[in-house]
Amino acid sequence: MLNAAELCPTAQRIAREFCGNEEAVRALGAMIEGKRLPHAFIIEGADGLGKSTFARIIARGAMCACREPLSGECEHCRKNCGNIHPDLMVVLGSGKINAISIESVRAMRKDAMIAPNEAEKRVFILEDCDNMLPAAQNAFLKIFEEAPPHVVFIMTCRSAMNLLTTIRSRGRIITLNPVDVHAGAAFIANVLHMGDMQSVSVALTTSGGNIGEALRLLGSESASQAAEKAAGTADGIMEAMCSDGELDLAVKCAAIGKDRALGGAVCSILCERLRCALMAAVGAQDTLESPDQNILRLGAMLSPEVIMQQIDEINQLSELLRINISMPLFNTRLAIILQRRK
Ligand SMILES: [Zn+2]
Repeated sequence: MLNAAELCPTAQRIAREFCGNEEAVRALGAMIEGKRLPHAFIIEGADGLGKSTFARIIARGAMCACREPLSGECEHCRKNCGNIHPDLMVVLGSGKINAISIESVRAMRKDAMIAPNEAEKRVFILEDCDNMLPAAQNAFLKIFEEAPPHVVFIMTCRSAMNLLTTIRSRGRIITLNPVDVHAGAAFIANVLHMGDMQSVSVALTTSGGNIGEALRLLGSESASQAAEKAAGTADGIMEAMCSDGELDLAVKCAAIGKDRALGGAVCSILCERLRCALMAAVGAQDTLESPDQNILRLGAMLSPEVIMQQIDEINQLSELLRINISMPLFNTRLAIILQRRK
């Protein structure tokens, strides 16, 4: 592995925002610093390895006018970081196979002939080119061959082997690889501020060093943990409603604490369960799929009017979460609504 000292200053700046892939980072840094950027790149690698991110760094490098390349002080860097640079065009696939069509290629060809608006270069990023049909690739090849000097094309794909040889041979191929788990975990925790080191390491090990996949795992993990917590809190509240202890109900509602998202999730679960209890209250419990005991008990304890009123008030309370009701007040109001017996 190369150490940071062997990277030129531009590559070092890239390495701060793009984890691992030292070979690719070093090469790109040197090309940008030496103003020797080729007019066509092909970035290959599995989904989640950062192809789009890397393509955008190249685009920034192609337009940058900073004294020290990519240091972020020039107008082009700022606009590119804000995703609002008029000289960056992103071309996406469409249709059933999500492929860039021949029509998109023709439109791009016209665009490419126009001089850049603000930067020295006009950059086209063609995302996910694996499924591009040969006819579209051939049309693209024509732009490639007669590309004006102000244009840079960046194609991303899982494998450059999915492209025609004629295209492949004209672009600078950059292969992205999974990252070292230790370095990747530090990057996710410190740069992206996602999660604690231990869960990040587990996710990254599971994904085989694929940062995008690890982030997806972390996201779905925290989402499923949150859903579990909300269901558990709602269960406790339902239990307390059935036992008819006011203090217990207040305690269970207070357990939501200051967690606004949890409050919202608990409200929607409670409304759903109360709708089931309402069915039971009007004698339609047979239509419910395996209702739990608390739902049936509430249906027997409360009148349909009271349940409807509770659902209505919970919905209103849940709206208040959006306009920043204080959480202690929210928790207290929820307990009061649920204490209603007539
Ligand atoms: Zn710049």
